[in-house]
Formats: sequence, C-alpha cells, structure tokens
Amino acid sequence: MALIEISSLKKSFGELQVLKQITFDIEKKDVVAVIGPSGSGKSTMLRSLVHLEEINGGSIRVDGDYLVQEGNYAKPQDIKKITAKMGMVFQHFNLFPHLTVQQNLEIAPGLLKTEAPDAIARRSEDLLQKIGLANKAKAYPANLSGGQKQRVAIARALMMNPQILLFDEPTSALDPELTGEVLKVMKDLAEEHMTMIVVTHEMGFAREVANKVVFMDGGDIIEANHPEEFFTNPQNERTKAFLQKNL
Ligand code: ADP
Ligand code: MG
Repeated sequence: MALIEISSLKKSFGELQVLKQITFDIEKKDVVAVIGPSGSGKSTMLRSLVHLEEINGGSIRVDGDYLVQEGNYAKPQDIKKITAKMGMVFQHFNLFPHLTVQQNLEIAPGLLKTEAPDAIARRSEDLLQKIGLANKAKAYPANLSGGQKQRVAIARALMMNPQILLFDEPTSALDPELTGEVLKVMKDLAEEHMTMIVVTHEMGFAREVANKVVFMDGGDIIEANHPEEFFTNPQNERTKAFLQKNL
C-alpha cells in the first residue's frame, strides 16, 4: 500500500478551480519533487494533505486511513491523528518568534504529553546536533540567518516523528548563498530514507535527490516521471516549455 494515496482531488476557491483532478501515490521512502509555474496549485495540494485547506471532492488516504473519502472528511479526532503523521516546512519558516530554538523544537511534543520531558530534551539536542545548530539552542529566531531558521523549522517538524515531510518552497525565501545548507539537510534526510514531498524551484535538487518528479500546471499533473527521464526526455509540450525557461 502507498503511504499516501491522492485520488481525483478537487479544490476550488469560489469560482476558481485550483486543483482539477489530482491523482497521485507516494510510496514510503519516495522523495517527490513537485515543480510547476506559480499559481499551478502546488501549495494548495500540500496544504490539502495536512488539512490546512478543505478539498471539494476526491480522496486522500494516509497510511491506510482516509483523511477524506470521496469528499467526506473523517471525524475531527481522526483528522488530528492522520495529519499528525505529516510534518510541514513552509517557505517563511513559521517559527515562534518569542520562543528559543530549543523551545520551538520542544513545544509541540511537550503539549502532547506522550513523552517524558527529558526524552524530549534529548531528542531536541540530538536534532540540533544533526542540523549543526547545537550552539544555537538558546538563541531566538530573530538572531538566526534564514538558512539557520529553515534548518530549525525542519528539526521542529522532525520532533513529531512524522512519517512524511512536506516542504513548500523551503529555499525560496533565502539568499542564494544560504540555500545550500538547507538543501544539504534535506539531502541527508533523503539518504536516511525519509519520505518527502518537496515543492521546489531547485531543479538540481529535483534531479539529484528526488526519485520522482511531478510537473503541475493549471491545477493538473501534466507529467510525472523518474528525474532522469523527466529532464532528458520530457513528453508534454508544457513540460518542455517550462524546462526551457527554468533549467
Ligand atoms: P502555487 O503554489 O503553485 O503557486 P497555489 O496553490 O498557491 O499555487 O495557488 C493556486 C491558485 O489558487 C492561484 O491562482 C492562487 O491565487 C489561488 N489561491 C490560493 N489560495 C487561495 C485562497 N486562500 N483564496 C483564493 N484563491 C487562492
Ligand atoms: Mg506555492
């Protein structure tokens, strides 16, 4: 069974149909790069998976459980359980500005009370070590670079032990010289077989790290393929035009 099954997903904002009929499976250990022009529905698709948007039709199944089945949502407590299996990393980090780095990592698992505080502290220490920011535990987000903030946001998402991480243009708000350190953390996660969906403009990352590339345009998936085939032998005219502009 796929980890995530998206079928016939439809989403409109008023008259505007933003997702037309999206069908796609994500297997465990997949690293899926989602690319496409601005306004093609990439963020809306990710946000629908974690219930930040409510869809108007279709199904989303996560690890065997339906978040929404043919347009009907699961019960609120089940929605919580299902969305807790996914961690999201946003373009603009969305760290809590009034909390230190360490507190940003520990607040959500702390509120859950399913783990002892010292166990949570140990994990946050390990994760900060892993992203190279052990020395920033007591710093506030305002005193970090964009690249450091995004690495903290990734660590914070990992604190919830998600089965899959969703990234929405994680490097698009960064100065070019800071994208590398964030992509490196993501590449390391991929090598540890973390399942990921990454909406990105980083074609190099899509090509080197992803095992599937999905091209969206106008609310549809136009083409999906292994990166090598996708980049060297695109089939659809719209894919070809997009790659010509963006490679
Ligand atoms: P992408 O991430 O590919 O740039 P989005 O999913 O953000 O695309 O947006 C797809 C379309 O939906 C765009 O036309 C955008 O203006 C529209 N849209 C996104 N969010 C909203 C919203 N909350 N209300 C109305 N329209 C929206
Ligand atoms: Mg977007």
